[in-house]
Amino acid sequence: MTDEALTIDDEILARARIHAREVVDEHGLELDLDAIEWAVSGRARRRAGLCRWDADREVATIVLARRAYERYEWAEFAAVVRHELVHAWEFQRFGESGHGERFQELAARLEAPRRCRSFAEPRYVLRCRGDDCDWRATRHRASEPVRTPGRYRCGDCGGALEVEHVDSGRTWNAASGYGGAKAALGEDW
Ligand SMILES: [Zn+2]
Ligand SMILES: [Zn+2]
Repeated sequence: MTDEALTIDDEILARARIHAREVVDEHGLELDLDAIEWAVSGRARRRAGLCRWDADREVATIVLARRAYERYEWAEFAAVVRHELVHAWEFQRFGESGHGERFQELAARLEAPRRCRSFAEPRYVLRCRGDDCDWRATRHRASEPVRTPGRYRCGDCGGALEVEHVDSGRTWNAASGYGGAKAALGEDW
C-alpha cells in the first residue's frame, strides 16, 4: 500500500469516527461506539459501505469503500456512514440487522439512505461512434463486445463502437486497445 493510500484511509476513518460521535450525541442514540471497529476497503467497487457482526465478540465492524470516499461529496459519504451506524445499532441491540421497518425508522431519523448505497457505476460503457447516434449501454463485466468492440456494430445505426473504462476514463475501439488499457492500469483495472 502506498503512503498516500494510507493517509486517505486514516482521513476516512478519522472523519467517519467523528461523524459517528456527532450522530450519537445529536440523536441520543444508544449505540456503543467503543464496541465498533472500523476499516477501509481499497478494493470494494460496488458497495460504499457495509457492517459485519461478530456475534461471538459482539463487535460490529463498519467497512467503508475508499473509492466511494473519493467519488462522493462528504455529505453523501457521511450518509453512508449513518446507514452503517443503523446496521451497527441493530446488531448491538438485536443481534441481527436488515432493512426492515425497525431499520427504516432509525434511518429516517438519522437521514440515512434506506438501502445500502451502491456506488457501482458500471465498469464499462459501450457507445456508438456514429455522428448522429447516441446509443450506449453499460456493462459490469468485460463481455465480448467490451474486449473486442471492433467485431461489433451499433444495433441502431450500424456504426462502430467504442468502450470506456469508467474508473479511468480510458477508451478503446479494438481488442488491442482493451489489452493496452488493461496492461497500463494494472492493479487499478
Ligand atoms: Zn444496509
Ligand atoms: Zn449507432
